[in-house]
Amino acid sequence: MIPNLSVVIPVYNEEDVLPELFARLYPALDALNTPYEVIFINDGSKDRSAGMLLEQQRIRPNETRVVLFSGNFGQHSAIIAGFAHVRGEVAVTLDADLQNPPEEIYKLLVAYREGFDYVGSIRDMRRGDAWWRGAASKMINVVREKTTKIKMTDQGCMLRAYSRRIVDLVNQTREVRTFIPALAYTFAIHPTEVVVAHAERAAGESKYSFYQLLRLNFDLMTGFSLLPLQMFSLLGMAVAVGSVITYLGLMAYRMFTLPFWDAMRALLDRDILQFFLTGMVLFGLGIVGEYVGRIYLQVRDRPRYVIDRVVEQTDAALPTGANDIPSARNLA
Ligand code: UDP
Ligand code: MG
Repeated sequence: MIPNLSVVIPVYNEEDVLPELFARLYPALDALNTPYEVIFINDGSKDRSAGMLLEQQRIRPNETRVVLFSGNFGQHSAIIAGFAHVRGEVAVTLDADLQNPPEEIYKLLVAYREGFDYVGSIRDMRRGDAWWRGAASKMINVVREKTTKIKMTDQGCMLRAYSRRIVDLVNQTREVRTFIPALAYTFAIHPTEVVVAHAERAAGESKYSFYQLLRLNFDLMTGFSLLPLQMFSLLGMAVAVGSVITYLGLMAYRMFTLPFWDAMRALLDRDILQFFLTGMVLFGLGIVGEYVGRIYLQVRDRPRYVIDRVVEQTDAALPTGANDIPSARNLA
């Protein structure tokens, strides 16, 4: 049976929330009356998550597939691994923590049926996040939209639907440290967004620290826009030309109006300008470092994730090369 819907869920240390996720996800999907599969990717959890996923796979073998990573490769690498296993015509991504209620999946599918190939979502209210994340996300949205032309009202919301075509395109990219909603958006022909309910994290705590969120947003910016890099060459040029003109003008003026030695001392009094320029240079250097870092990761071309094993019902209809080799018993 080929499913119509593939639900992709990255899981990292979610033992506290998985029972409730299972209890709500499957009934919500059953109610859709369409063949579906749930692909869980265990991103190297150190708690009992992996065992719980395997147990769930035994309980619902027809609808459940579990990809076990050999270590922690990050949420977006987990989603990419999930995409590589998608068989459905449409894929829906979801966080495990129930901040995106599974009961809202049908809204994405309704929009998909209307002909949209990328259905983003907007949380109708941010709940359960630290206060600074709400403010930060607003600011980040403005900057991102200006620099990357990617329109996402709510970039933090992972509850999204992608057509199979987009999933295949994402699978073709070899990009390191990417941000799936943005990457997929660049492949979309008819993107749209729907408003979905939003809840507090059902249990456990956020897997992202302030630093990791900062990293994510640098990745988003440098992964999808060259503007910061180019901005610095323009800004640097303007500052350099401007400061030379100002300096020459000031020097001429002081030579004519001040006694010679006073004028000389005034010329050395450039600390403030120097601070400013040094700050700019360091920041510019940092931006260059962001891109160089990406290039470095890209040229290393390491696998973005390593799968320990995949647990799923072996489907006779699926062609596997190994089955074509006659076993020793058959030969005997
Ligand atoms: N996650 C993951 N690998 C990680 C961090 C997070 O697979 O290294 C998963 C996590 O289990 C959850 C989703 O990504 O399903 C979002 O994580 P979280 O809810 O902690 O992020 P937040 O909602 O705080 O942004
Ligand atoms: Mg969350």
